[in-house]
Amino acid sequence: MENKRVRLRFAPSPTGGLHMGGVRTALFSYLFAKKYNGDFILRIEDTDQTRFVKGAEEYIIESLKWCGIEPNEGVGFGDGPHAPYRQSERKNMGIYKKYADQLISTGHAYYAFDTPEELDAMRKRLELAKVAAPQYNSVTRQNMRNSIALSEDEVKKLMDSGCPYVIRLKVPRNEEIRFHDIIRGWVVVNSTQVDDKVLVKSDGMPTYHLAHVVDDIEMEITHAVRGEEWLPSAPAHILIYRYLGCEYKMPLLAHLPLILKTDGNGKLSKRDKSGIPMFPLNWSDPASGENYVGYRESGFFKDAFINMLALLGWNPGTTQEIFSQQELIEAFSFERVHKSGAKFDPEKTKWFNQQYLRKKPNKELAELFSPILNEKLAIANLDIQNFSTDFIIGVCNLVKEKSHFIDDFWNTGHYFFIAPTSYDKEVIKKRWNSASANFINAVIILFEDINDFTAAEAEAAFKAACASQNIAAGEVMQLFRVCLSGIGGGPVLFEMVELIGKKEVINRLAKAATSFAGN
Ligand code: GLU
Repeated sequence: MENKRVRLRFAPSPTGGLHMGGVRTALFSYLFAKKYNGDFILRIEDTDQTRFVKGAEEYIIESLKWCGIEPNEGVGFGDGPHAPYRQSERKNMGIYKKYADQLISTGHAYYAFDTPEELDAMRKRLELAKVAAPQYNSVTRQNMRNSIALSEDEVKKLMDSGCPYVIRLKVPRNEEIRFHDIIRGWVVVNSTQVDDKVLVKSDGMPTYHLAHVVDDIEMEITHAVRGEEWLPSAPAHILIYRYLGCEYKMPLLAHLPLILKTDGNGKLSKRDKSGIPMFPLNWSDPASGENYVGYRESGFFKDAFINMLALLGWNPGTTQEIFSQQELIEAFSFERVHKSGAKFDPEKTKWFNQQYLRKKPNKELAELFSPILNEKLAIANLDIQNFSTDFIIGVCNLVKEKSHFIDDFWNTGHYFFIAPTSYDKEVIKKRWNSASANFINAVIILFEDINDFTAAEAEAAFKAACASQNIAAGEVMQLFRVCLSGIGGGPVLFEMVELIGKKEVINRLAKAATSFAGN
């Protein structure tokens, strides 16, 4: 192990959009490979032609690119020494057949001719006999149509007649299979619990069980990271490595815990209703017609998404929560991946985006906000050109604290661009009284005298107006804010005043004073 180059693969099947659980598998493999200056490979496992979904492969590639989890070898990322990386192409080169033939000739695999009806009948028989988990195994295979139960002559006849067959792994009876998982430690399973898995289907295609073992051997994979759902088949895989005489080439295994619903009750579904996406990018399933929104299109920053995902089932052993990709690479280890399921937390997911949003330079935020602003202003027949870049940057600086997404900027800060036409009724009802108009006019007079209209100058003038009218500042503060923005809450008041600017502030105050005069 010491002198072997670290090589990890992400091996999705193109059976649909890559959901965030898949992205996490890719991420953990990527982080580990980069930590040890190794290789990260994308292999497409497309041997199950019946489940092939158009566009899925392209979606996987685009998702990895957006996430910044880029393989240095593999489909869509350039060939390495073990091309091709698509299993259907490898199958056409006879790669899997060679290994299947080896298992047949050494007696560790056999031909089975059973029809679906015969398999069904076997299952029913076993169910009637109260067998808990009916399976094709060392006992039941004796009563089926396969090259172990049938005579050599019968097998030959079936073969010659072109009868369809599969190749099955011959799992021994009552043998202990032990293997080590980097996350779970030692796992011991009795072979009685393992069925005679199909290795090659009747169409000549290898199944996942055979194909991934062969490819992990040939591609010199050192660590195989995959979802927990593969743990029950791992013993069969161990046997395949052993029977191929390749146990020493077997990668270390790491089975990742499930991602659970927020309440911890069951696996997180791709149809989760928390309002947080389950897919990295928008995905339309061509088969079902279902549409799923992506993190990217929902306004998440990819760094925030990746940071959140890294902490879903892994902990750094410290209280640090914000990690750059480089920091993740340095801190990551499989030993710190939890054995139990990781609860998905929608609020925390938004919190991560907020942290990244706050950290971004205001100039960058303004660039990201401008297209949205443009659209919103167009609806009001306004032109973005009427506002200076510095003004837009200033707005971003003030509204970012209260926003999770760039999209929130308009909702929290539209009044910077368009004077309010309606005012928070509750505040007006509670705070507007017979003295209010005089007070607002006093503020206007003092504001008019300010030359350098800064937050500090405006605040001093506001306080002077309060004093002259004998009003406590606390009593009119919110009313004053509503006159300017229409809304009872918002950013630091006098910074907001400074940014709106003297002329516009005075206009808005005058308008409000006349609007509520009769109240
Ligand atoms: N093709 C398998 C899947 O999509 C990959 C499992 C593995 O990584 O070995 O689940």
